[in-house]
Amino acid sequence: MSEDADPIRRASLIVAHDEVNAYDAVVPPIAQTSLFTFSSYDEMNETYMGKKTRPTYSRGLNPTVRHFEDMIAQLEGGEDAIGFASGMAAISSTVMTFVRPGDKLLCVRHVYPDAYRLFEILLRQYGVRTVYVDGRDEAEVARELPGAALFYIESPTSWSMDALDVASLASLARKHGVVTTIDNSWASPVFQQPLSLGVDLVLHSASKYIGGHSDVVAGVVTGSKALIGRIRATTYPYLGGKLSPFDAWLLIRGLRTLPTRMKAHEAAALHIARKLAAHPLVENVLHPGLGNSLPPGLSGTSGLFSFTFAEGVDIPKFADRLKLFKLGVSWGGHESLVVPATVVHNQAAGPNSAVDFGISPRVVRLHVGLEGADALWADLGAAIDAARL
Ligand SMILES: *Cc1c(COP(=O)(O)O)cnc(C)c1O
Repeated sequence: MSEDADPIRRASLIVAHDEVNAYDAVVPPIAQTSLFTFSSYDEMNETYMGKKTRPTYSRGLNPTVRHFEDMIAQLEGGEDAIGFASGMAAISSTVMTFVRPGDKLLCVRHVYPDAYRLFEILLRQYGVRTVYVDGRDEAEVARELPGAALFYIESPTSWSMDALDVASLASLARKHGVVTTIDNSWASPVFQQPLSLGVDLVLHSASKYIGGHSDVVAGVVTGSKALIGRIRATTYPYLGGKLSPFDAWLLIRGLRTLPTRMKAHEAAALHIARKLAAHPLVENVLHPGLGNSLPPGLSGTSGLFSFTFAEGVDIPKFADRLKLFKLGVSWGGHESLVVPATVVHNQAAGPNSAVDFGISPRVVRLHVGLEGADALWADLGAAIDAARL
């Protein structure tokens, strides 16, 4: 494998070192400030006139946030990036820049549940109609693309973990002149770089692998200068979901170990997914890395996957018997987590993508953390044995 083709080596070179910082500090100092003062009237006036770019107010430009944005743009191969206070702020600001009342938003099935609720509750209220397609069915996608204002992709998809052929979908959309955006949180910029596959805008919930320590809620979008410029001019300053300097600083710290962590999540999750696939009480395992070769576009797999229990397992008992896997939403941190689809089926909140797109209540989602594959498998195996009916 050449140096550039090795995703771990490529990403490691980007995240390991910065330009020399103040005091020669190896970690960039944090600009924890809301505003920046000007040395003269002329400097202030030129900045307001747009002749000079420099920080004025941290809702617009902050050096620590900018540092994080630059790192993400480099990792994804983008020209520019914007950090947000959450993944949902990145999603809502991006989508709302490109859709207007009366527009059709095209979206793949099995998107992140709160993205689905954004489309079904808020965007519907503003007269935007969302049409959902099976991202694996290119004929269906091609039928629905004409007239769409934006094509929203997530791959692999939530819960069902379908790895879509991102390059083919992007090229279809390009033929119809439709801007594409993808939620790339699952693979992280280490294992999938959708801009190189022809997608226009790449989104992340940075709360997941980019942060990596379950201590930040944040988001980011990256792409060409022109498209990121439209988001900057349309939604970003006014919806105001700005990433804070301290959170940006934590994300920069998270990025330092992202390639190493992804490699460890990948290995442990594959080990456990294969064990589950061979277990008599498991009907199927939904993990994009179990075939003979990786799906197109992915150079590796992460720690999040699902499986379906056969009949004959008490799922609440299984969940309660787990010790290392904690019951909890989110994922991408050091810790292993489990979510049974039954609780999502019973969820009180609004439109429900898992139910509407047919996720079985016997599905269980796992995030495989960094505790070590053998200990994690022992925990799962013991819990399945204890929950056998
Ligand atoms: C968590 C998540 C989001 C939303 O991100 P927040 O940071 O929680 O707002 C979006 N997409 C996916 C795939 C996620 O897992």
